[in-house]
Amino acid sequence: MAKKDKVVVGIDLGATKILVGVLKGRKVLATVKAKTDPSGGEGDFFATIAATVSRALADSGLKPAQLAAVGAGCPGVLDIRTNRIISSANIPFIKDYPLARKLQKLLKVPATVENDANMGLYGEQQFGAAAGCEHVAGFFLGTGIGGALILDGKLYRGCSGAAGELGHIFVDPLGPGCGCGNRGCLESLAGRLALAGEAAALAARGGAPRLMKEAGADVRKFKSGALARAVAAGDRQLKDLVRRKAALVGIAMANIVNTLDPECVVLGGGLMEALGEVILPAAEESMRRHAMPDIAAHVTVVPAKLGDMAIVMGAAQWVRDQLDA
Ligand SMILES: [Zn+2]
Repeated sequence: MAKKDKVVVGIDLGATKILVGVLKGRKVLATVKAKTDPSGGEGDFFATIAATVSRALADSGLKPAQLAAVGAGCPGVLDIRTNRIISSANIPFIKDYPLARKLQKLLKVPATVENDANMGLYGEQQFGAAAGCEHVAGFFLGTGIGGALILDGKLYRGCSGAAGELGHIFVDPLGPGCGCGNRGCLESLAGRLALAGEAAALAARGGAPRLMKEAGADVRKFKSGALARAVAAGDRQLKDLVRRKAALVGIAMANIVNTLDPECVVLGGGLMEALGEVILPAAEESMRRHAMPDIAAHVTVVPAKLGDMAIVMGAAQWVRDQLDA
């Protein structure tokens, strides 16, 4: 069967939701979204994955026998030498977890599992914002900050598969504690949780009246959309805070630009989707201020294009490419 005719399933697996797509080439035949609940334990979690995949296959009108492969993107540290997920901060029971083998057994087709940011950037480089680029860095700004690298046209995975953790680039020795156990990582300073925490302090001081009106004092309600609406409604100090956070992202981008000389930096994730018009120019300006000018001169900074579908499309294309490798 020609590569473009192979039907594959792509899975975006998160701590609270799963998105499954059935793809033929770049054509999306069906998508199904479901909630996942890690507190239900491993059995529940895998049952949700299995049910969502079979619903997506049914929605696309395909029989399971027509499926060629399944590719998944999952948050956490993976080891490509053993094809296992070593750990995933938001899915506590995932420890040395053989998800690829379990998917393979369930669907009786080859399966791959890769880091979600890697698959998101691969999707953007194959079909989206970085199409045609050979040297790309991606920063995905959400609750945390994911990262990925494509060098010489290939996903750069390092010796074990853990490369590209750009959210854990060290930014400030006096910075707050980070989920990874270190201190002062980019994510601990500029991820959505860090932004929400400082926005709450700002609101308590009376500096973000629109945000206070919409979300009150409950920092859990300071999602990307609420922050964006408050900025659009005129919370100037909040907008300045978002810009300062974006400038820190720009410093990490400058380190990557100087080290790797990419042609393109992609900025994506939920925070970018909500506040991209504020974040992208501030991050780019900071990158250009801190990087070596001769290197920065040929770097373009672009917003991600594929939104929710980046990881699904990337993971589907990734497993398709592995089959033909
Ligand atoms: Zn960290």
